[in-house]
Amino acid sequence: MPGRTQNFGANDWVARSRAAVWHPCTQMKQLEAVPPLAIARGEGPWLIDTDGRRYFDAISSWWVNLFGHCNPRINAAITDQLGKIEHVMLAGATHAPVVELSERLGKLTGLGHAFYGSDGASATEIALKMSAHFWRNAGQAEKNGFISLQNGYHGETVGALSVTDIPLFKDTYAPLLRHSVQVPTPDARLAEPGETAEAFALRCADALEAHLAEHAATTAAFIVEPLVQGAAGMAMYHPVYLTRARELCDQYQVHLIADEIAVGFGRTGTLFACEQAGIKPDFICLSKGITGGYLPLSAVLTTDAGYAMFYGDATARGFLHSHSYTGNPLACRAALAVLDIFESDAVIAANRSKSIEFTRLLAEVAAHPRARHFRHRGMIWAFDVADATPGFATRFHLQALAQGVFIRPIGHTVYVMPPYVSTADEMAMLAAAILLALSA
Ligand SMILES: *Cc1c(COP(=O)(O)O)cnc(C)c1O
Repeated sequence: MPGRTQNFGANDWVARSRAAVWHPCTQMKQLEAVPPLAIARGEGPWLIDTDGRRYFDAISSWWVNLFGHCNPRINAAITDQLGKIEHVMLAGATHAPVVELSERLGKLTGLGHAFYGSDGASATEIALKMSAHFWRNAGQAEKNGFISLQNGYHGETVGALSVTDIPLFKDTYAPLLRHSVQVPTPDARLAEPGETAEAFALRCADALEAHLAEHAATTAAFIVEPLVQGAAGMAMYHPVYLTRARELCDQYQVHLIADEIAVGFGRTGTLFACEQAGIKPDFICLSKGITGGYLPLSAVLTTDAGYAMFYGDATARGFLHSHSYTGNPLACRAALAVLDIFESDAVIAANRSKSIEFTRLLAEVAAHPRARHFRHRGMIWAFDVADATPGFATRFHLQALAQGVFIRPIGHTVYVMPPYVSTADEMAMLAAAILLALSA
């Protein structure tokens, strides 16, 4: 075990990191075999290490980056804001960046009254608490249970982990968690032979209905990752599931929480994934791409009816939740700059042709004899590796690094989620690196 007091070379960032930093989602002992990259700077979709080696950021730094590292327009917005006000508490004060961002997010989602947190998991916590509190204010305090999808992921703080269904993250902490119910996932890979993704999604919606029919009286909300279950390994499903879930939640008086933390801001081809199902959730959770990968920020927006349920003379009827950095002005300015880029560069339309072109560039990967269930939606591509043996993800990661690609498979699923500023040449290079890593 590396001690904390050893002497390291001043520039040995990897050794110093192992001794001083507790890395996320990592068995620290494995850092001996797979040292972290020591990144000195970034340039568009490229990460550059302290030795000047370049790595293509194929998974957008855990799905947060949209317009590249050190984007001049986002840099300028944050720099401008730094000269005005870096932070002020949002209870008892307000400021232009948070007002403007809330107005714009409201227009874009068709919801309103943005409530801010700093991370995705805190957005999940906020939405769950708001939903249960809504029913309490409505005189139905017994409606406090939650439903989520099998293999769903909504973050890892204790409340968010309660509705997450990834055994590796959840099992250890099971005694700390509140019970929630998981209904069958419409993940199209699980369809019966000959069954369409749509028919399978409808069959899964029947299971949701069966649960609601019996338990709606004690259920506050159904929380779902629209269209793509990211942490499950980019599991994709037919939008009809969401359309049906919206109908059922209305019918049985249960909130629908759309966790668009990963899929929001264009990842699935529309600004928000719910648009493809033609639905509006009762709560939407946003984070990750919201600041283009610059600063931690999350937001929950809700309906006017949802908001109205908290409005009144009694203090305890209000939503008494807070984080120190709620609505941080620098983060809001980064988010406003991101929305400006979406608008001025017509990013959604541009991504539509990029998505088609990148799929063509990945055709050889899709056809590779080891690739199963090659799937694609918007700016996400994934496939499962048929004969993956234990340690596959690490070996693939190292193979790709050797070719200048930073990519981290989830189990036996390889996925690509590049920054939107990636070019066809970069995608061709990425495809070649994946093919080589598959043949290694
Ligand atoms: C990443 C993610 C979260 C959690 O966000 P953090 O910022 O990592 O806490 C929640 N839900 C989904 C769908 C995510 O992909």
